[in-house]
Amino acid sequence: MKGQNIILLDNLLEYFESVSKILIKKRGYYFYFNKPNRKSKTVLIHIHHCGECCYGNGKIGKSKPGKNGVWIGPFISKESLTEFVNDNFPDLNGLLSDCNCIK
Ligand SMILES: [Zn+2]
Repeated sequence: MKGQNIILLDNLLEYFESVSKILIKKRGYYFYFNKPNRKSKTVLIHIHHCGECCYGNGKIGKSKPGKNGVWIGPFISKESLTEFVNDNFPDLNGLLSDCNCIK
């Protein structure tokens, strides 16, 4: 391998290390706050690797952040998410349910 390619590989490793650090911090539990529909729907708790959630970004290629609502998270546990919802969104109390991704 040529020296330049080794430098390129080194730079890639540093790049992926940075990406990994960001994504590791984005691990955890999320919920989607959808203001227009929030009273008529169950609020699902997702984990970061769920296809719906994808680290709080929504479905890849389909999501338009902020258009209908926002992902809120990550939370270190379902209990901390539930506590946050109860403290900040009392009208969602009792509407939380687990997505299939964490059942
Ligand atoms: Zn999910």
